[in-house]
Amino acid sequence: MRIVLLGAPGSGKGTQGEKLAARLGIPKISTGDALRAAVTAGTELGLQAKASMNAGKLVANEIVIGIVEERLEQADAKPGFILDGFPRNTEQAQVLDAMLRRHQQPGIDKAVHLQVDDEEIIRRLHLRAIKEGRHDDKEDVIRHRIEVYNAETHPLLDYYKAQHKLVTVRGVGTLEEIFERILTVLA
Ligand code: ADP
Repeated sequence: MRIVLLGAPGSGKGTQGEKLAARLGIPKISTGDALRAAVTAGTELGLQAKASMNAGKLVANEIVIGIVEERLEQADAKPGFILDGFPRNTEQAQVLDAMLRRHQQPGIDKAVHLQVDDEEIIRRLHLRAIKEGRHDDKEDVIRHRIEVYNAETHPLLDYYKAQHKLVTVRGVGTLEEIFERILTVLA
C-alpha cells in the first residue's frame, strides 16, 4: 500500500505512521526526520534546510523532493510506503504523482487525514517543546508552522479528495483508538 499521511504539525502523523509501518511491513518515510538527520550530520543539504526549519518555514521543494525520490528508489519501498510530512504543498503532491508514474509504480492508494483542532495542536506542540526541545517548537515558530500548514498543506485535502483517495480520521483519543480508526478506514 502507498499511503500519504496528512495533518497539522503535532497531529500524530509520526507516531501513527510508525505503528502503521510496523503493522503493514512497509517503511515510513519522514521528510522531517530526514532533514533533522541532515542538520545534525552537518551535510550541505542540512545547512541549506536549517534556517527554514528553525523559522517554521517550508524547506525548498527541490530539497525535499530529492530526499523522497532517493528514498523511494530503495528496494524496501517498492512494495509500498507511508509518507509522513510529504507532500506538504500542491507542487510536491503533483511531483510525487509524476515520480511514481515515471518509476512505473502504482499511484498513492490513500491519503489519511489525521484531524485535530487548533487548540489541541498548540497544546501538544508546547508539550513536545518541553519534552524534546525541538528548535522549531517555540511559541512564535509554532504559530507560523500552523499558518503554513493552513495555507499550503491543508489545500492538499482537496487535491486527494478530487482523486477519491482522502479518508479522515479523528486524531484525538488514545494512540490505540486512533490506530484502530486508521486501520478501519484503510480496510
Ligand atoms: P511537524 O511535526 O511540524 O509537521 P516535521 O518533522 O514534519 O514537523 O517537519 C519539520 C520541518 O521540516 C518543517 O517545519 C519544515 O521546515 C521541514 N519540512 C519537513 N517536510 C517538508 C516538506 N515536505 N517540504 C518542505 N519542508 C519540509
